[in-house]
Amino acid sequence: MTGLSDSFQRPINYLRISVTDRCNLRCVYCMPFSGVDELAHEDILRYEEIDTIARAAAEMGIDKVRLTGGEPLVRAGLPELVAMLADIETIDDISLTTNGTMLAKHAAELKKAGLNRVNISLDTLKPERLPSITRSDAELADVLEGIEAARGVGLEPVKLNMVVIPGVNDDEVLDFAAKTIDEEWHVRFIELMPVNGENKAPQFVAASDMKKTIDKLGKLEPCLPSVGNGPAKYFRLPNARGTIGFITPVSEHFCFNCNRLRLTADGKLRPCLMSDYEVDLKEPLRGGVAAEGLKKLIEEAVANKPQQHHIAEGDVPRQRPFSQVGG
Ligand code: SAM
Ligand code: SF4
Repeated sequence: MTGLSDSFQRPINYLRISVTDRCNLRCVYCMPFSGVDELAHEDILRYEEIDTIARAAAEMGIDKVRLTGGEPLVRAGLPELVAMLADIETIDDISLTTNGTMLAKHAAELKKAGLNRVNISLDTLKPERLPSITRSDAELADVLEGIEAARGVGLEPVKLNMVVIPGVNDDEVLDFAAKTIDEEWHVRFIELMPVNGENKAPQFVAASDMKKTIDKLGKLEPCLPSVGNGPAKYFRLPNARGTIGFITPVSEHFCFNCNRLRLTADGKLRPCLMSDYEVDLKEPLRGGVAAEGLKKLIEEAVANKPQQHHIAEGDVPRQRPFSQVGG
């Protein structure tokens, strides 16, 4: 196995795979208000095709994969894909990002197939607020059940992602932080990123302001992540069982440490979430490209990975909503 690194000497070892652009929710920060045109079924990569790409990427040095969406659990048979990926010897971490609404009924099967852990998006602890944030009839109880089910089968650590939206749920930062004291909750506060020209910077709550709010509960002490080495910076409140992470794409970008590639549901490889540049893998794959050809295309995407994004200056991707790239 050879290591993969980009033009700025960043090692690239992490592939996020969007398995579908479809979602049962329509979160305000993710889906454009006007909705999105769904990809045609035949344009979505089959599991075998994802497996072929993941195997080529693994031979080049990818050893961590995350399944995302849209909502990955709306795609039938996800455990089959997990099992295929778990069969790739050099991939040592398989995780899933989900909105949690359907996790309770799939958690055991996913674990059995080889999934290691889950991140669950949870933007409010108020049941009456969830429908307006998700523009759906989502029930908080289902997400909480999903969290417990994941824990129950050992898909741990369960990380909870909260996108902090000014004027919508920023009044809950303290409640989420307080939850980490008595429960082993690993909460990550994410600064709202502008996408699709809809949420323009600087309408976000900076992590520094979230920290000031949380100070009321005690002094945050830096700590190590429970697992992984992603972009979040972790802290713990005094004697807390859980941890608090901050993901700061807007106020303090972490591009210099970025180790990721993203595969869209329709088979485009994106070296940067915040850039529209992508390399098509699907058509070459369907045209019978050999593994070496596929690797060349992966190298091309890596070679064109931008040094950093410029969202603070209003430079945002416009061609796809997050729901198609997987966040
Ligand atoms: N449906 C799954 C979920 O909600 O967890 C997976 C896909 S979702 C696009 C992946 C992540 O992107 C979620 O954690 C979500 O919070 C994050 N995300 C989406 N839009 C965002 C935005 N505008 N700013 C910050 N995070 C965003
Ligand atoms: Fe769906 Fe996840 Fe986007 Fe919400 S954040 S609309 S759950 S893909």
